[in-house]
Amino acid sequence: MGIIFAVRKEQLDGEKRVAVVPEAVQKLKNSGLEVMVEKNAGMGSYFTDDMYTEAGAVIVDSRIKLFSSADIVGTVQCPSVEDLDVMKEGAIVIGRVPSDRIELLAKKADSRKITLFSLDRLPRTTKAQRMDVLTSQASVSGYAGAVIAASSSPRLMPMLTTAAGTVKPSKVLVLGAGVAGLMTISTLRRLGAVVTAYDVRKAAEDEVKSLGGKFLNLGIEASSAGGYARELTSDEKKKQQSMLVDAMAGSDVIVTTASVPGRRAPVLISKEVLSHLRPGTVIVDLSADSGGNCEVTVSGETVDYNGIRIIGVSNPPSHMPVNASEMFSRNLTAFLELIVKDGKLDYSFRDELLKECMVSGRAGDQDGP
Ligand code: NAD
Repeated sequence: MGIIFAVRKEQLDGEKRVAVVPEAVQKLKNSGLEVMVEKNAGMGSYFTDDMYTEAGAVIVDSRIKLFSSADIVGTVQCPSVEDLDVMKEGAIVIGRVPSDRIELLAKKADSRKITLFSLDRLPRTTKAQRMDVLTSQASVSGYAGAVIAASSSPRLMPMLTTAAGTVKPSKVLVLGAGVAGLMTISTLRRLGAVVTAYDVRKAAEDEVKSLGGKFLNLGIEASSAGGYARELTSDEKKKQQSMLVDAMAGSDVIVTTASVPGRRAPVLISKEVLSHLRPGTVIVDLSADSGGNCEVTVSGETVDYNGIRIIGVSNPPSHMPVNASEMFSRNLTAFLELIVKDGKLDYSFRDELLKECMVSGRAGDQDGP
């Protein structure tokens, strides 16, 4: 039997995505891999076991059997310590590992000689673009945030001129204009809203304007390595808060996406700021899972705060699981091409991308398998 690639059923509550969709199975088989899929792995995103079987995969109904047979495991969320315990010694796991889980999982993986790759650590370079799950999933998040905002707001998005009078377009403020924020802007612009956006990276200004949004320039520049934002100093935070209040108070909808890699999401909307907002304002917080951009955000819940609704969207890409899974699957299979050639494990840790993504494993082994 050749190299076995396994697709697990995600375990996290509310996770509807699957790491590899049936479309990719045939391609993996053509590249010489055997593909095993855990029973019902794709059900949350409407990819049935029959679709996987037709594409050439074998359905396995026991996770222990799946993990103990697999040479490579593909996963959306990170594996648990218990998962690593039942995997084959020397297996490879490709998924996402949040920074606060790296130490624990790397230790366990090392003890079982498992090589763990986190796609979260891919550099944002041209070569890595095809594998960039942060970008693909953030695009889906931004879209989900926009449609949740539009369907939750008590106001229409576009301007309407009717016999019953003129309806003003909604004023939307987007905080954080990275990948997700830009997708939110373009989606809400298409619905006819007037959109203003804010980011601490100066580079975001041109991107916001190119989508027809206005950019709020508060004179705080906080770009850091890799094109990401750094955490603001406490003086910068105070300045930002006081300067943002007017923009927030004049908005019908606020969508927040601000985040700093490896840190709690910055709090941009305090209770004090909420006291300045109009009842009926809707805040959609796409950073809810990393602590929230609003002080009262609760992930997975809608909080009513004096007539202002704060929607803490948990796992935003999982709200559109079909396309999110398809995109994740293309990213993951592109990464697999770095590891498997002609049906055989064939890679070197001299490869920059593999080196960056490796959380545990054969760090000292420069030549791969
Ligand atoms: P992210 O998810 O880490 O953060 C989202 C946004 O929040 C960022 O734009 C960040 O600047 C902003 N932010 C952080 N703190 C803030 C604060 N206090 N107030 C307001 N905004 C704040 O970032 P991301 O969306 O993954 O992208 C970050 C960068 O990576 C961008 O420069 C993007 O253009 C770049 N990128 C490059 C490539 C590539 O070159 N292939 C691909 C994707 C993204």
